Amino acid sequence: MTERKKAEAHAPASDEIVEPANTIPEITFEQLSPRMQDAARRAGWDKLMPVQARSIPYLLAGRDLMVQSRTGSGKTGAFLLPILEKIDRSRPVTQALILAPTRELAIQIVGEAATLSGDEPVNVLPIYGGVGYGQQLDGLKSGAHIVVGTPGRILDHLDRRTLVLDDLKIIVLDEADRLLSMGFYPDMRQLARSLPRRRAGFMFSATFPPAVRSLAREFLHEPDFLSLSKDHIHVADVPHIYYEVPGMDKDRALVRIIEIENPQTALIFCNTKVRVNYVATVLQRFGYDADQLTADLSQNEREGVIRKFHAGKLRFLIATDIAARGIDVEDLAMVIQYEFPEETELYIHRAGRTGRAGAAGVAISLVAREERRDFIHVCTKYKIEMEKRELPTDDDVAAVVGERTVALLEAAQRGRDRLQIERMQRMLPLVSSLFETEDERALLAMLLDDFYQQSHHGAFGSQEAKEAPAPRKAESQGGRQRSRRGGSRRGR
Ligand code: AMP
Repeated sequence: MTERKKAEAHAPASDEIVEPANTIPEITFEQLSPRMQDAARRAGWDKLMPVQARSIPYLLAGRDLMVQSRTGSGKTGAFLLPILEKIDRSRPVTQALILAPTRELAIQIVGEAATLSGDEPVNVLPIYGGVGYGQQLDGLKSGAHIVVGTPGRILDHLDRRTLVLDDLKIIVLDEADRLLSMGFYPDMRQLARSLPRRRAGFMFSATFPPAVRSLAREFLHEPDFLSLSKDHIHVADVPHIYYEVPGMDKDRALVRIIEIENPQTALIFCNTKVRVNYVATVLQRFGYDADQLTADLSQNEREGVIRKFHAGKLRFLIATDIAARGIDVEDLAMVIQYEFPEETELYIHRAGRTGRAGAAGVAISLVAREERRDFIHVCTKYKIEMEKRELPTDDDVAAVVGERTVALLEAAQRGRDRLQIERMQRMLPLVSSLFETEDERALLAMLLDDFYQQSHHGAFGSQEAKEAPAPRKAESQGGRQRSRRGGSRRGR
């Protein structure tokens, strides 16, 4: 990083993410306590990964921290090792709470905690929605030292007083950007009320868009920030992700990516206006809030669409390069290149729309076989490291949608009063009978699909702006996208 860039990155401007002023030096494996070394060895680790070496000292010192880190970086060990060090095993009360976006991740964290703690008597309990309460209640009764789970069900247990957090010392938000994209923000906000004031807070996230930073302000106290990519304000440091997609399947691939990534807003580029028109139609038919911008629109129409997008009242804008010239949305969460540009500079123009002013967005490209040459050309010319991701399968999408739907349903259920619950009982015999044949199951699927579309995607309409983690004043000043919807009710 040049000196100037360094100064920029460290400048305490309005809401810029700043690396710690009084940095704590990295820790080595040998400097860990004997207990932590034993724990790591049980997992077969004899060295620390960078995220661990850098963040463990802060966690041990009890300094609140946000860490930019990805899955596979070793972040789970980074928070589990210090947690296992800090909890008092002789007290059968919940001392650490780890919030995770999905049950898979929760199970994975519990598994790693079990490996690290070995035979030591530590109770680590997974808690997530969509399953019965029995085991969770038993686990809580016997005193879970560490609870790992999804926010909705944890909130349920707090409401029922089956989980009490009076003795909580540490809270971890793991994959905070995904916690928001799964739509857990409203549950988390309620959950925050049950946390004791004196506690340490840690947040791990691959990206730090404004909604994630707002979340940090709600859960953490003057956190330090560690970025594993050094210079996060330059276009080359925005995560560049690509999917190899057969040209014929791009429309389906786009829908799957949107469904999984769930960006609060995205600018989608195509090379021709015919393709822009096609993609906009596909997204609209699928039920997304999408519109198009091409040179075919009248000046008035053009301005209208741009105004909507700037104001955060349009979620997806599909555009050609020429038409998108006037668009400058600060904090744009995602740029998607549906078609790879034929001219290399256009890639930089497009990707540079996201991740401005320290706001970490993501640049995604859908690359067909016939576009590979242009793609490789861009990578070598600009020395961009592109991360290849496997296209989510229909099953992947169904799993994520299923988890979101359960979380939504459970949240809706929590909002019901006694009379409504009584009334609901009338439906129980019908529910049993609807499971019997395929045709009847299709009725249930239709109902759930409508519910999900309205509650999750519908939530990107104007009313849910209220539910977003509110950007601080300084953050929205100068940004034209005032009514941002990040981390909104049921999804960013
Ligand atoms: P995570 O990013 O936490 O999902 O971790 C990615 C993988 O790295 C997991 O399989 C961990 O078991 C492994 N891992 C974590 N820390 C270390 C370490 N210090 N040495 C070797 N492997 C590790």
